[in-house]
Amino acid sequence: MRIVCPFCGERELGEFTYLGDAKPVRPEAGASEDEVFDYVYLRDNVAGQTSEYWYHGGGCRAWLKVTRNTLTHEISSVEPAAGAGATKVGA
Ligand SMILES: [Zn+2]
Repeated sequence: MRIVCPFCGERELGEFTYLGDAKPVRPEAGASEDEVFDYVYLRDNVAGQTSEYWYHGGGCRAWLKVTRNTLTHEISSVEPAAGAGATKVGA
């Protein structure tokens, strides 16, 4: 599998580190214990299209949001993740 980094171009998978599912959203302060438990521990095992965070440690060291099909490993989009690394757009 190869990932096309928006900053570095197409690179080998070994340059990247998988950081996890990009879908879970941190609960607001004061959320119930069940909401926090779900956020921290429960994940779906998606067969199909999913959004994931990857870190390009072997290149620009940006956080990326990758949309990937878990059945075929086909990557349909790669974009800078919000926050760290996203400020490099256009740099
Ligand atoms: Zn990169």
